[in-house]
Amino acid sequence: MAEKGKREDTQRGQRLRSLAAVDEVLREPAAAELLERYPRELVVDAVRAVIERLRADILAAGAAAQSSAAQAADLTPAALVPWAARLLEAAVTPSLRRVINATGVVVHTNLGRALLPREAVDAVVTAASGYTDLEYSLARGARASRQDHIHDVLCTVTGAEDALAVNNNAAAVLLALAATARGGEVLVARGQLVEIGDGFRIPDILRESGAELVEVGTTNRTYLKDFEKAWTARTRAVMRVHTSNYRIVGFTAEPALEQLAGLAHEHDAVLVDDLGSGALASLPLFAEEPALKDSIAAGADIVTFSGDKLLGGPQAGVAVGRAAAIDAMRRHPLARALRIDKLDLAALDAVLRLYLDPARVIDSVPTLAALAAPLADVRARAERLRDLLTSPGAAPTLSADRIALLDTVARAGAGALPVTEVPSIAVAVNVDGDADGLAASLRLGEPAVVCRLHDDRLLFDLRAVRDVELDELAGAVLAALA
Ligand SMILES: *Cc1c(COP(=O)(O)O)cnc(C)c1O
Repeated sequence: MAEKGKREDTQRGQRLRSLAAVDEVLREPAAAELLERYPRELVVDAVRAVIERLRADILAAGAAAQSSAAQAADLTPAALVPWAARLLEAAVTPSLRRVINATGVVVHTNLGRALLPREAVDAVVTAASGYTDLEYSLARGARASRQDHIHDVLCTVTGAEDALAVNNNAAAVLLALAATARGGEVLVARGQLVEIGDGFRIPDILRESGAELVEVGTTNRTYLKDFEKAWTARTRAVMRVHTSNYRIVGFTAEPALEQLAGLAHEHDAVLVDDLGSGALASLPLFAEEPALKDSIAAGADIVTFSGDKLLGGPQAGVAVGRAAAIDAMRRHPLARALRIDKLDLAALDAVLRLYLDPARVIDSVPTLAALAAPLADVRARAERLRDLLTSPGAAPTLSADRIALLDTVARAGAGALPVTEVPSIAVAVNVDGDADGLAASLRLGEPAVVCRLHDDRLLFDLRAVRDVELDELAGAVLAALA
């Protein structure tokens, strides 16, 4: 044991001593090319990072007493230059990469939620690449509000009296309560104090508004009388939170929104309704989501929802409702901190206008189109992918017996419609052996592909894959399997 340990120590020492120094690497002829292409500090940092990484690997490999890449690697100065070149290339390449979403989750928060319609993309390019009348009235030649661009169309498509857009829905909720209930109490049904994902919890957001959260009722059942009992002289608001990402089913009760609005208004307080998704389109699939028009009709003072969930627009938070409450939000100092940026505003402006034509909006907004596509269309897409993978023209190809079309269940995602199953079709590819490894190389390809894994098969769900992506998807799968 001791003999062996000593031998490893010496080997390790030799490896560490043979590791090139930064100056040596920089003097290599091949390094001159890097120094011409990149600033010297970047090159030095990259070389140093390579050497440190190798040093760590040698030490770790010695500790683990097993052979590793680091033990085999060529440590001469010339050998380190290509490593540094790869680091430099990665450093100057923007990090955000395109992904083909073969997960079957249409509004996938980790993959960037909604895809923008062409009209919105054009609007973003215009706003990004030139000056615009963002906060300027061209008619009056004077300062104006960025909200002017979307105010009227928001009121039209929601049926609300007044409207405001902010950075995202969490910001809309925060601002709504800061503007109406700061220093007072806000009543919320216990069963609605949800976590909206990534550890962010509605109760925490509410508390940050400066309002004191008062939980009402029990997890599954809450009645109007619970709210009445909880009422104090300090109560400023009642809040309803749509439990977007889960359902309480069975023995449940909650008061009608009209009752909550009535109670709030009796006491000069407000009713805030956080809808989460904001499903404005009339898709049969959205039947389970609370309708925004119902909230307005029931008398909610502020109704909030996300721009990039089922609305199919950019990241944004929309607050619509009664003029007095929305105006209090508009005038609150936090409104500036939470304001919507100009690119999102441009996109939201364009998307909302598509909602003026309810008959066409489903085809023109990609999120709606993906969710509403008839199963036959998804199947046709799956068949096309299968053909591309097995067609004799493609080299290499997959043998047809490794591929099957599978009925799957797709999801809306982003916490919306948690129990709604959207029927879908996947192309299932049998891989003998390392399915995890293949999925990883698909993720690291160009474009990246994210798919599902099931029983050692790779499933490519076609619900959220667009027709224009099929060739690339097939190419990526064939390349990964080759
Ligand atoms: C998604 C969601 C939010 C947060 O919306 P963002 O636009 O992601 O900030 C808030 N409340 C509910 C009920 C949600 O579903």
